[in-house]
Amino acid sequence: MNKVVLIGCGNVGMSYAYSIINSDSKVDELVIIDVNVDKAKGEAMDLMHASSCSKRKINIKAGDYTDCDDADIICISAGRNQDVGETRMDLIEKNYNVFKSIISEINKTKFNGIYLIATNPLDVMTYVTLRLSNFPAYKVIGSGTTLDTARLRFLISEQLEMNPKNIHAYVIGEHGDSEMIPWSVARIGLNSVDKYLNKSTKNKMLKDVRNSAYEIIKKKGNTAYGIGMCLKNITEAIFNNSNTIFTLSTYIDKFKCCVGYPVIVNRSGVRGYTELNLTSEEHSEFNKSLDTIKSIIKQIKF
Ligand code: NAD
Repeated sequence: MNKVVLIGCGNVGMSYAYSIINSDSKVDELVIIDVNVDKAKGEAMDLMHASSCSKRKINIKAGDYTDCDDADIICISAGRNQDVGETRMDLIEKNYNVFKSIISEINKTKFNGIYLIATNPLDVMTYVTLRLSNFPAYKVIGSGTTLDTARLRFLISEQLEMNPKNIHAYVIGEHGDSEMIPWSVARIGLNSVDKYLNKSTKNKMLKDVRNSAYEIIKKKGNTAYGIGMCLKNITEAIFNNSNTIFTLSTYIDKFKCCVGYPVIVNRSGVRGYTELNLTSEEHSEFNKSLDTIKSIIKQIKF
């Protein structure tokens, strides 16, 4: 029995839930918790009806924190979203308080599974979860730059008319304005990216990836489908014990921080990270991004 508890059934949470019931993610039970209890109940009912059309039987319900006892994954997407023009870092105060209340409830339960964090500012909230839960680092996973990586692969695949699965390019660092692309280690098939993309195209792609959320939020108020699918893929990798590489945010000792970096994920959580051979320029860009996250974390009074 693979059980997921979803906390926060807004746009992101429900896109994740809907992706799960449309996939083969091996989720047997999905419990939805939200401070807005009626919303959780309504979403659960709607999803239950949809699941009767899905390939696998999934038990769905609105629940409470006692459901966390035997959960394998708790996905937290509760908290405030960005308003037009706001950065992800602007959300810290409100979302820290939301996490304090949620994790103190989970700490009262027997939960011993994997935390999967989606709330922004992502890397900071992943670190907050680590600190407040006292869980080992390999069990606290933030979605990191998986969405940004998906956006980058989409852009490259459109430009080159190639399947995104053959594009081995990553966005790393903060899930936010300082994120960066280590182009020197990116590959299209087995070839260096430089064979296909010039400097100005690469610069434009980084700019477009960084601006995606601002652009979408300006037009429709939130972003949801992309992150919903990424969270579903991470869940699938955990339950399939697939040892898949994602640019998740996890605490990496050598960086002394939670940051988006390519890590290997399986049934136990994060198995380890993959070493990247960055150029000195990329190295300093990555370090700048790391410092951005650390400077916000420093301001939190735990
Ligand atoms: P939303 O406003 O639609 O949903 C938030 C939900 O959280 C609401 O249903 C609200 O009732 C619930 N909530 C608030 N406080 C709670 C509490 N204490 N306990 C339980 N539930 C609580 O917001 P959204 O669009 O779903 O975004 C959620 C978060 O995900 C935001 O922080 C957003 O910035 C972030 N996000 C992350 C990514 C990513 O790549 N990681 C992508 C998009 C959005």
